[in-house]
Amino acid sequence: MLFAPIRVGKMELKNRIVMPAMHYLSSWEGSVLPHHLDYFVERARGGAALIIIGGCTIDETSGAVDMLSARDDKFIPGLSALAKAVQAQGAKIAAQLFHAGRYSHSILMGGKQSVSSSPIRSRFTGETPRELSIPEIKQVQRNYALAAARIKRAGFDAVEVIASAGYLISQFLSPLVNRRKDEYGGDFESRMRFGLEVAREVRREVGPDFSLIFRVAGNEFLEGGLANREAQIFSRELEKAGVDMINVTGGWHETRVPQITMGLPRGGFVYLAQGIKQTVSVPVMACNRINDPLLADQILRDGQADLIGFARGLIADPELPNKAREGRYDEINYCIGCNQGCFDPIFDRKPQTCLVNARAGAEGRLTIEPAFRKKKVMVIGGGPGGMEAARVAALRGHAVCLYEKRGSLGGQIHLAAVPPGRREFLSFVSYLGKQMEKLKVAVHTGTEATWQHVEMEKPDAVIVATGAEPWMPEIKGIDRPNVVLAWDVLCGKEDTGKEVVIIGGGAVGLETALFLARKGTMDAETLHFLMFNKAENFETLNSLLYRGVKRITVVEMLKKLGRDIGTSTRWTIIQDISRLGVRTMTNTRAREITETGLLVEREGKETLLSAETIVLATGAKSLSALFETIKDRVPEVHLIGDAKTPRKALEAVAEGFEVGRSV
Ligand code: SF4
Repeated sequence: MLFAPIRVGKMELKNRIVMPAMHYLSSWEGSVLPHHLDYFVERARGGAALIIIGGCTIDETSGAVDMLSARDDKFIPGLSALAKAVQAQGAKIAAQLFHAGRYSHSILMGGKQSVSSSPIRSRFTGETPRELSIPEIKQVQRNYALAAARIKRAGFDAVEVIASAGYLISQFLSPLVNRRKDEYGGDFESRMRFGLEVAREVRREVGPDFSLIFRVAGNEFLEGGLANREAQIFSRELEKAGVDMINVTGGWHETRVPQITMGLPRGGFVYLAQGIKQTVSVPVMACNRINDPLLADQILRDGQADLIGFARGLIADPELPNKAREGRYDEINYCIGCNQGCFDPIFDRKPQTCLVNARAGAEGRLTIEPAFRKKKVMVIGGGPGGMEAARVAALRGHAVCLYEKRGSLGGQIHLAAVPPGRREFLSFVSYLGKQMEKLKVAVHTGTEATWQHVEMEKPDAVIVATGAEPWMPEIKGIDRPNVVLAWDVLCGKEDTGKEVVIIGGGAVGLETALFLARKGTMDAETLHFLMFNKAENFETLNSLLYRGVKRITVVEMLKKLGRDIGTSTRWTIIQDISRLGVRTMTNTRAREITETGLLVEREGKETLLSAETIVLATGAKSLSALFETIKDRVPEVHLIGDAKTPRKALEAVAEGFEVGRSV
């Protein structure tokens, strides 16, 4: 089914795989840049049927200056070149028309105040928008239509209007934000008016033959907000207004329900598309955390949706559609939902990339070329950085061997995958492991490489990716038997008592806290069984879901928890920590470990926290001794990843890729 053609309005798609708009890669004042061409063309070549670019701003107040734009005719030549390049690869192309309303930051719009249905302060930006007057509403609707006409003139196959995620059209739809007393506010019918008029205006402007898509929120996931029932009604009205396809996503940016983290099960929001599909006759697309073609195929065969949005799945592996069509499933580099490369950099205004695909966003620059001189390359360390280095070096034609001291490949990724909802990390290990086999990298697991191994292999180049080990702080009593390492707890080497204090509130400390706090809570299957059979009341189930068997306290000396966790994921972890009843203490120093607990100091006051086990999550230090031994004895030696400086997997993989490219 995934490869069955489908019509969306007059547009014929060769398969059901769509790359939705993701606001990936910044622009310069709205123009299409060479990196957009490289990025989208690669996804089109990879076999996706439809590429949706953008969002594209429609006027001066609709979004940030670094977004793509359709607000002026001057953007048409760049858009046109992009459309031609994508279509030349056999894919169709659409552009998403974007107006963020009160989600726009004034600082990113040259100081202009944002606009909305009503002047309700945005929790997302901390700013209060200006209420649009009726003439301004008409002008904004006109701007959508004019932008759509430009997209059509640029040679695109379709246009999409975003009416989800809490952006402008959502702000008219939702009673949480729309407090208007005129014909655009009040009951749901009136609140739908703005969005439906946009649909009609765009349809009138582009004519009956140009495909029009709307992206809707299947549920706002906000208390007092709209649910799937209202999304169904809105979608039905959109169909009557001339919309050819409904693209269904989840909630608003303000929601406290995670939308794209790896905690959301694969295909977790398909039910929202299913609800809408039951009420409309135009095709419906399901989105959010569908990264697996077999799952996608099943969704289509079960009739839950007609198309599938593979968003980050195609950042991670542009060739996913072609690999799936050819049955090369084990060659797919699955998106793991980490957001470390694609979404978190947006908040830090840094270039976007991908943890599992270091080329993402720089396809034109980061090519993998055959090596000028074939070498024997020895990689020491089988974590993600080492394996990536081995993969790229082998792809370039080098003869590569890899040594790993543990019995299996993957390094610290295995620890990262232990806490609840983090299993996706393992798919990257499997992908790299398969690549080692396919590229005939000689892998030696269970072998700690020494100078003797280097002498024996006689490599032209050595890449040292030996990782890191836990760093032990100087705390009195640290060698007591009631002290264990977080890494050992996560890998199952050590157990803990019922009462636990974790020293360190960074990513490892918080994830260890989650892992321990979930012990004894109800698993999904049992919860389903009890709910299905109405065996327990809601209050009992609720407490079984959140209350485990351990009492956990996390002690952090800085004032903020999880400083090394990306913005898009940090709040979900903090929220889980609080829901699971984990006690957290910031600005608190560990002073002494005793037989009965941990003595801490906070604001000059000492307190003894009672605990059976003290868990150390106090950071890591590089393991670079082998590098020091060999650096002057081998012609070419590189030190990468945590062995250089302990950081995230994102950096380790990027360094592995770079060294594999240059060795
Ligand atoms: Fe997926 Fe992570 Fe890559 Fe983003 S950075 S596309 S979430 S694997």
